[in-house]
Amino acid sequence: MKYVILGSSAAGVNGAKEIRRVDPTGEILMISKDKFIYSRCILHRYMSGERTKDQLCFVEDDFFERYNIDWMGRTEAIALDTKNKEVSLSNNEKVKYDKLLIATGAKSFFPPIENMDKAKNVIGLRNIDDSVEIMKKAKEADNIVVLGAGLVGVDAISGLLNYNKNLALVEVADRLISLQLDKKASSTYEEAFEEKGVKFFFNIMAKKLNLNEKGEVKGLVLSDGNEIPCDLLIVAAGVRSNTEFLKGTNIELDRGGLVIDSNGRTNDPYIYGGGDVTGWGPIWPVAVKEGIIAGSNMAGVSKEMTDFFVSKSTMNFLGIPTMSLGISEPKDDSYIVELEEDEKGNYKKIIHKDGKIHGAILQGDLSYAGVLTQLIKDNIDVTRVKKPLFKIDYSDFFHTTDTFEFSYEKEGYNV
Ligand SMILES: Cc1cc2nc3c(=O)[nH]c(=O)nc-3n(C[C@H](O)[C@H](O)[C@H](O)COP(=O)(O)OP(=O)(O)OC[C@H]3O[C@@H](n4cnc5c(N)ncnc54)[C@H](O)[C@@H]3O)c2cc1C
Repeated sequence: MKYVILGSSAAGVNGAKEIRRVDPTGEILMISKDKFIYSRCILHRYMSGERTKDQLCFVEDDFFERYNIDWMGRTEAIALDTKNKEVSLSNNEKVKYDKLLIATGAKSFFPPIENMDKAKNVIGLRNIDDSVEIMKKAKEADNIVVLGAGLVGVDAISGLLNYNKNLALVEVADRLISLQLDKKASSTYEEAFEEKGVKFFFNIMAKKLNLNEKGEVKGLVLSDGNEIPCDLLIVAAGVRSNTEFLKGTNIELDRGGLVIDSNGRTNDPYIYGGGDVTGWGPIWPVAVKEGIIAGSNMAGVSKEMTDFFVSKSTMNFLGIPTMSLGISEPKDDSYIVELEEDEKGNYKKIIHKDGKIHGAILQGDLSYAGVLTQLIKDNIDVTRVKKPLFKIDYSDFFHTTDTFEFSYEKEGYNV
């Protein structure tokens, strides 16, 4: 059996490891546009100088030998022939597969703002090359603007804090990282960034880029007509899946990207997909899970995507850690919201409905994360918990048996 994997990030790497776990002898070839394996989530720490390139790597030093994987870096899939089960590569080679995993992720989306297509000094943040380019240009710039305040936008800002430049962030929503944070959790970060001099423009859109005679961006005009000085624009306004090489094939795509079922299978029985290329949820833990599910099914062991809490994110900006699960705001009045905050800035929020947790935010002190995970994992009906929710501690769930094994203490929770 020959498995070919396109992409060497969260989905590709975890798919490969899972294939190897299930099939110890099959041939695995990993092909990637990337030159080496690294985590995009910590690129900002490279930009800030906190990590070297080597310290971005998230696999073992001997990853390829350990898992017996053949590697082709700096090589791009440019076409696919599903009939002959063959991938055409940027180095003019063609490789055959028995099973193919498409884990090619996504690229930065540049919104159609006037002059965006011709402006110089406009960069997305998606890979190590983008980071290197941003670091170079940031040194020469005075006014840096980031467009989009999702995880990527806030990463960009935090990576540039020590460059001593004017930093501004423009966001159409009313807060930072609006998918994962509510207004309260966002405002904690906003205050911390503002103390470092960052300016925020919320509830507003970018309308036009003003350019100088060399075509370099000089100002960003907002939808209210005001202009922010800008000589480097970092665009973090969303992503589009990397599926160009599928053009002309019968592989099904939709608005989000590659269409897969809950087993990670595409409409071609020999081709699987996982990660940002599917557009299901462009965050690292989702990509990891999708990679594992696709890898397992490719190697013959059935696994299905069932986890409701795939949308778990953790972040740490300016020394303030936050964990976010599921929804950050109730969808309507039928949801119950439990809140707790203290004078030290620690914040806890749980959103539940019909006894089931649909979302949670922990900021500052994350020690409740264990309890929360347990509540979710054991599917505890939170309306039947006898103690106030935030007063439960981890020990309430377990007692030690005579054989020193932990076991769940169901009685205390009347379930
Ligand atoms: C700056 C930044 C910060 C982020 N921060 C967070 C965070 O804090 N928390 C979080 O959960 N998520 C974060 N994310 C999102 C997270 O990084 C992604 O969800 C995750 O990397 C997706 O993994 P993936 O394997 O699907 O694709 P990607 O990471 O996009 O990797 C795609 C791989 O495919 C390769 N490739 C692309 N096209 C081809 C081709 N045609 N042929 C061969 N290879 C190809 C690429 O080189 C790469 O190796 C961040 C993303 C960025 C960019």
